[in-house]
Amino acid sequence: MSKLAIGAHVGQENPIEQAISLGLDHIQLFVGDPQGWKASVIPHPEGAEGLKAQAEAAGIGIYVHARYLINVATSNNKVRIPSRKMLQSDVDAAASIGAKGVIVHGGHVTADDDAQLGFDNWAKALAQLDMKVPVFIENTAGGQHAMARRADAIKKLWDAVGDTEVGFCLDTCHAHAGGIPIESAAETILGITGRIDLVHCNNSRDEFDSGADRHANLAVGKIDMDALIACLAKANAPIVLETPHDAVADDITALRSAF
Ligand SMILES: [Zn+2]
Repeated sequence: MSKLAIGAHVGQENPIEQAISLGLDHIQLFVGDPQGWKASVIPHPEGAEGLKAQAEAAGIGIYVHARYLINVATSNNKVRIPSRKMLQSDVDAAASIGAKGVIVHGGHVTADDDAQLGFDNWAKALAQLDMKVPVFIENTAGGQHAMARRADAIKKLWDAVGDTEVGFCLDTCHAHAGGIPIESAAETILGITGRIDLVHCNNSRDEFDSGADRHANLAVGKIDMDALIACLAKANAPIVLETPHDAVADDITALRSAF
C-alpha cells in the first residue's frame, strides 16, 4: 500500500512537542475554545509566527479544526451570521500558521426548515468566505436534518457547493454511525464529491446508523479493523486520528504498520 501521512488531533498545550513525541507527520488542533464564540487564539507563546516556525523546523504539518459551534447552514440568523464570522476567523488564523486546511462540520437545519435552505446557506457562506487555506466540509454522525450525514444529503450539498474550491473530510466514525457503510464509504463519497482531502480515522463505540458521535480507539470499536484500513487505502488522503488519547499511540502504530 502507498504511504499515507498520519497525524492526530492534539491539545493546544505544546502541540508541536506532542507531535514529535508521538512521531506524527501532522497535527490537527483548535485555535481557541472549541465550544466558545470567542476570537481565534494561536496556541503558542510567540503567536502565529512562533508556531509556524516551530512546525516548519520540525517538519510537522498543521490542520485546524474549526470550532464546534459553527453552523453556517442554519436558518437562525443569530447562529448563522456569527458562524460565518468565526469560520473566517479560524481560516485567517490557520493561514497565519501556514496550515494545510481547515475542517468544518456540515451543520444542520431545524425540523421546521426545508433542507434545501441549508444547502443554499452553505453556498452563500462559501461565496463570502476568503478561503486563504483549503476548507474541508466534514460528514457528521447524528441528527435527521444534517447537511452532511447521509449520502443523499451530501449529494444535495455538493450540488450546491461543488463548483467552489471547498473540499471534503471523511470521518469514518461519523460515516458508520451516520448510516454510510464503511466498506463503501470512500467510493460513496468519491462518487459524489470527486475528492477526499482528509480522513478523520476513528472507530465507533456505537452500532451502524446509531446517530451517536462517540469515537473509539481503532482496535476496540464496532467498525471492523480490516474494513477501516481498506477504507483509508481507497480514500488515499492524509489521516488524522481523533481517538481517545490514552491509546492513540497504539492507533498510530496500527496505521504505520498498514501504510
Ligand atoms: Zn472528525
